[in-house]
Order: sequence, then C-alpha cells, then structure tokens
Amino acid sequence: MQTLKNKRILVTGASRGIGQAIAVDLAKHGAKVAVLATRLANLEQTCAAIAAAGAESLPLEGDISQASTAVNAVKAVVDAWGGIDGLVANAGITKDNLLLRMTEEQFDQVIDVNLKGSFHFLKAVTKPMMKQRAGSIVFIGSVVAAIGNPGQANYCAAKAGLHGLARSAAMELGSRGITVNVISPGFIATDMTSDLPEAAQDAMKKKIALGRPGSGQDIAGAVRFLQSPDGSYITGQVMLVDGGLSLG
Ligand code: NAP
Repeated sequence: MQTLKNKRILVTGASRGIGQAIAVDLAKHGAKVAVLATRLANLEQTCAAIAAAGAESLPLEGDISQASTAVNAVKAVVDAWGGIDGLVANAGITKDNLLLRMTEEQFDQVIDVNLKGSFHFLKAVTKPMMKQRAGSIVFIGSVVAAIGNPGQANYCAAKAGLHGLARSAAMELGSRGITVNVISPGFIATDMTSDLPEAAQDAMKKKIALGRPGSGQDIAGAVRFLQSPDGSYITGQVMLVDGGLSLG
C-alpha cells in the first residue's frame, strides 16, 4: 500500500544498516527519499534499491556534525522536490571506552555527530516545514539512553540528549502541525554492533525478551508509522523498538 505517496523524506546515514533499511522501506511505500552519507559513493546500493522499488532518490553527501551539511541537504531537497515532509535523523557513531580511558575527543566526536548532528538537521527542516504547516521529524535514539551501558557514557549521553531535544521541539513546533519523536532501537545486527566485543554482544542478546536481535526492517516499520498519516497525532514521545531488551 502506498501509505507515503508523494511524501518527500530525508534520511541521514542511509548508506547501510538501519538507515538503509528505513530509506528503502519508505520508498517501497511510495515516498521520494533523499539519502545522505559521508560519501556519495557509499549510497549507490541504497539508491539502486530505491530505484528497484520504483521510487525516486536524491543522494547527498556531507558530515552531519557540520551545520552547513544540514543546510545544503535540506536546500537540495526543497529545490528538487518543492518541499520536505519528513526527516529521519539516523546517522550515528560510537567511540566506546571506559570512563577512565575515555578521551575528551571521543566524548566530543560522539556528541557532535549523534546529538549536534540531529540538532543541525532539526533546525534546517524547521523553516520549510513551518511554511508547509506539516512535517514529521524522527530522531533515531537508542535503548541505552534510558538504561545506560558501561563503556558508552558518551553515546548514552548523546542519545539521552535527543529525548530533551525532541520534547522541546515538539512543544515549539506542534502548533504548526510538526511532530517530533525519538525511536530507540535495541540491539540491531549492523556494522555498528558487529564492532562490539563478542562478550558484550552476548550479554545484550541474553536480555532480549523476544530472543533475537532486531533487524533494520524492525526499526523501519516504526519509522514508517510515524511518517504516515496514522502516526500524525503522536509527538514528543520516545518509542522503544527493542524486542523487550529494556525490560531487564
Ligand atoms: P552503521 O551501520 O554504523 O551506519 C551508520 C550510518 O551513519 C552510515 O550510513 C554512515 O555513513 C552514517 N554516518 C556516520 N557518521 C556520519 C557523519 N558524520 N555524517 C554523515 N553520515 C554519517 O549504524 P547503524 O547500526 O545502522 O545505526 C544507525 C542509527 O541507529 C545510529 O544513530 C545508531 O546510534 C542507532 N542505533 C543502532 C543500534 C544498533 O544496535 N545497531 C541500536 C540503537 C541505536 P557512511 O557510509 O558515510 O559511513
């Protein structure tokens, strides 16, 4: 069903993993999807999958920690398609280390990409969405923002920051018909999690009530719901999509 017909949606970090699954799923449901990664070449596979779904893509490159990347990306979408209906701020990184060994640089890099990068894109879409008096903004957070994770103090702090950012933005932008929410994945099998030591992966997997790691598609379904008319009365919320990992 073409639930997203004519929607123009920008997804950051769409070259692989969760962002790629989100972008292709949105395309399969009728959206035009602008996809961003640090290099255009990394987006070839995603754009091919979007074309195979019969949809239009717009590949964009840049480092999301730079405000100019967000400004240029949103301008490119508006120039190409006349407006922007959705943002999925998905791109993220980890730089794990125990607190005693964590450098200021590791802390700053993770905050700059995961939190500040999302802020840059939120700010950049605000004006065109306010003009349209409609829009759906989804930040991809993480279950660890709520429960913590040893070795990820920087990442947990950045992802927890998205909760406050989303709630405040939801209050500021609600009167203009713009929703702002966080979707927090649990343990999803991607490049990011395959980098974790095996013992840490096993410890996380044991906590998942549903007994299996999530897939990008598990997250894509929740994002699609918030980008569709069915999710239009939900704002300022943090939705856990974690297979019950956070239950204990
Ligand atoms: P991933 O496989 O490592 O992919 C990360 C994506 O972000 C890539 O497309 C990468 O693009 C892009 N990216 C990274 N830094 C960027 C930057 N500075 N500027 C622009 N693009 C950048 O990660 P993932 O597992 O799919 O994670 C996606 C999101 O879900 C992240 O926000 C992550 O924190 C969150 N999350 C993941 C899990 C999990 O279990 N996997 C759990 C909770 C939350 P390039 O091709 O340019 O490198």
